Amino acid sequence: MSLVERKPCDAERPAATSMRRGLFGRCPRCGEGRIYRAYLKVAEHCTVCGESLHHHRADDAPPYLTILIVGHIVVGLMLLVETLKDDAPLWIHMAVWPTLAVLLSLWLLPLIKGALIGYQWALKMHGFGKETDDAGA
Ligand SMILES: [Zn+2]
Repeated sequence: MSLVERKPCDAERPAATSMRRGLFGRCPRCGEGRIYRAYLKVAEHCTVCGESLHHHRADDAPPYLTILIVGHIVVGLMLLVETLKDDAPLWIHMAVWPTLAVLLSLWLLPLIKGALIGYQWALKMHGFGKETDDAGA
């Protein structure tokens, strides 16, 4: 395992950069290692820089934000289609909207969770700012 040069714990942590790295599933610190070891399972440590990632407390925020975004998109599209073409067969509504909602949710959930973990890391929340717990370095 090659470790990139470690920055001190009090090094600058720009929130936008950390969130963007998390959004793409990358370590908020180095931007190279993967943040997930499975679909939504966060890795204990970054495999590249050794940053501890288990401190995150994303909890219910990613599903809440995913439902909020997907709900607005799907309901907005449903209303738009209903307004433009009010004689669309019911089976199309029954097939398209639930499928779109599920696929959008599955796509957005890891993105939002990664961005939230990056934000928590940038703000040194939940133990992300502790120097002593950075195992693997
Ligand atoms: Zn890393």
